[in-house]
Amino acid sequence: MIRVAIYNECIHEKNNEKAMAIYPNGIHSVIADFLKADDITVKCFTLETVEEITEEALKETDVLIWWGHVGHAKVPDEVAERVRDAVLTGMGFIGLHSAHHSKPFKLLMGTACHLGWRENGDMERIWNINPAHPITQGIGRYFELPHVETYAEPFGIPNPDEVIFMGWYEGGELFRSGCTFHRENGRIFYFQPGHETFPIFYDENVQTIIKNAVRWAAPVYRSEALVCPHIKKIGTEN
Ligand code: ZN
Repeated sequence: MIRVAIYNECIHEKNNEKAMAIYPNGIHSVIADFLKADDITVKCFTLETVEEITEEALKETDVLIWWGHVGHAKVPDEVAERVRDAVLTGMGFIGLHSAHHSKPFKLLMGTACHLGWRENGDMERIWNINPAHPITQGIGRYFELPHVETYAEPFGIPNPDEVIFMGWYEGGELFRSGCTFHRENGRIFYFQPGHETFPIFYDENVQTIIKNAVRWAAPVYRSEALVCPHIKKIGTEN
């Protein structure tokens, strides 16, 4: 069983007419619906319940998916630190779209994670540049999203362990749209599409990628806690 938790701040879906029309029950409920499977359970948190992301809740989470934008600063630092520590023990983390500026993602990256952006509904062609990767299975050579928020390089992240998707926009920009990272025992996937005023999470390819990413990011090994133990020399008392 893979225990997934989704954090979606769920602010635009309450105050932006376009977002309300596309995601009347919140982005998280659409993601939860397509993720549900015989071997996957899903629970959801929003900014209103962000304090419920406790150490205990994270221990019961195999993969945490994060969508945030205007509410990043309202997420308590302690929650972000808990999420980072859970990733270091082995929990998977998937950052979607504007989660590039979320507190947990920035803690895990150690950089500012700035990027160029433009919101004019350009088309994005997303190239699968690693067809042998578990997350790209079922995705062709490329697919297109008719309207996205353009994200442009330079993207201020440390060099990813793998770049598996490259985004090209009709404005000519390029972006590392799908990147993987490892931090101690944990696996991280960042995926660029997901702007709240476009129906991106209903796209079949996007759903396939997030489903694949959940299975890829699920812990292979999880340590009990982050400790720095004193060890005895093998065969001796001290
Ligand atoms: Zn956006």
